Amino acid sequence: MKIALLCRSPHLYSHQRIMEAAKARGHEIDAIDHLRCTIDIASHRPKIHYQGRVLSGYDAVIPRIGASVTFFGTAVVRQFEMMRVYCVNESVAIARSRDKLRSLQLLSRKGIGLPITVFAHKTSNAEDIVKLAGGAPVVIKLLEGTQGIGVVLGETPKAAESIIQAFGGVNTNILVQEYIEEANGEDIRCLVVGDKVVASMMRRGREGDFRSNLHRGGSATAIKITPQERATAISAAKAMGLNVCGVDMLRSNHGPVVMEVNSSPGLEGVEQATGVDVAGKIIQFVEKNWEPGKTRTKGK
Ligand code: ADP
Ligand code: GLU
Repeated sequence: MKIALLCRSPHLYSHQRIMEAAKARGHEIDAIDHLRCTIDIASHRPKIHYQGRVLSGYDAVIPRIGASVTFFGTAVVRQFEMMRVYCVNESVAIARSRDKLRSLQLLSRKGIGLPITVFAHKTSNAEDIVKLAGGAPVVIKLLEGTQGIGVVLGETPKAAESIIQAFGGVNTNILVQEYIEEANGEDIRCLVVGDKVVASMMRRGREGDFRSNLHRGGSATAIKITPQERATAISAAKAMGLNVCGVDMLRSNHGPVVMEVNSSPGLEGVEQATGVDVAGKIIQFVEKNWEPGKTRTKGK
């Protein structure tokens, strides 16, 4: 196969590993910086120009679109879809995963376990919002935050209300969520490839931090998940339409609850914690599934 790895920095661990795994299995793979692609839209002749040439001959695309460049990155993926190139994660699915509210709505439609979540535009009724989310403590999240930035714990009703009002004052969209205290600052990240959980780890926050993101100084260990957690991760990936993703869950008193589904999961933490060759699993999935024009959503 000839594969395009869409990424900004080919030197990152995850990207290096994907390229190594592809080459080890006899494929050709090019790292293409999506921000340097020029999209050429003409009736029935979609093209992408890149460093003085027209991209062609690719069988598959592995998109690794960073959250800050979702708009342009998904447009490039969509263009590949229009060129009938198989994209492991489709543009629509990537865009969905970047919006926490939209993701939770899709997951709730499929009956997947979620923390009680409230979304409101008007923050003047902060007291009601906190009550609807089950009362303090509550977790307040920026709708498009990532890596744990923009996730705050409102420990008392007064604190929660002031945080909500502060975000309201700067006109950002927020979610208010039931705080899953029993998770003890630990969450579970399941790496889903196709319809399988290929690796899972438990992440624990830095001492005193309820956020377990590795970017926030958390640490990871391999973990054996329950059949219910496995089923939840697979259903969540399916509901989002993602073939490769990281599903983040908390162990709550009422079973596993999904917090978010990441469409460009980092491989370093999970490969190191579990010893699983996740990059190799991704390439094997592409080998089995690629087919020209297979895109389900056609960018809709
Ligand atoms: P991000 O997308 O920025 O990583 P998350 O929604 O995943 O944001 O939250 C970051 C971390 O905060 C999670 O990994 C988890 O440890 C903790 N967390 C998030 N939501 C809750 C919640 N409702 N209850 C308890 N802990 C939470
Ligand atoms: N475009 C719609 C969405 O992303 C629905 C597409 C679909 O479910 O196939 O929510």
